Amino acid sequence: VAAEPTQSAEAGMVTVSIDHDLCRGHQMCVMGLPEVFVVGDNDEGQSDVRDKLQPRSRLEQLRLAARSCPESAIRVESNP
Ligand code: SF4
Repeated sequence: VAAEPTQSAEAGMVTVSIDHDLCRGHQMCVMGLPEVFVVGDNDEGQSDVRDKLQPRSRLEQLRLAARSCPESAIRVESNP
């Protein structure tokens, strides 16, 4: 099955993303967790993620970042 390598790569990982319809570029996430978030290459100063797949060991830090985002723009999903 063609999709299997991707699925196994994501298994046990955490997927993090930023909704750019909501993000207003406060950069709080970048200051709090620069290992994950980076100032995006765009006029609005919106953030990007360095890597959308993150180790499960970062889950609590990522959830804290999501709760701390004033625009609720950070999505964190843990993959089974
Ligand atoms: S804290 Fe939220 S709104 Fe601010 S830059 Fe980060 S993702 Fe965007």
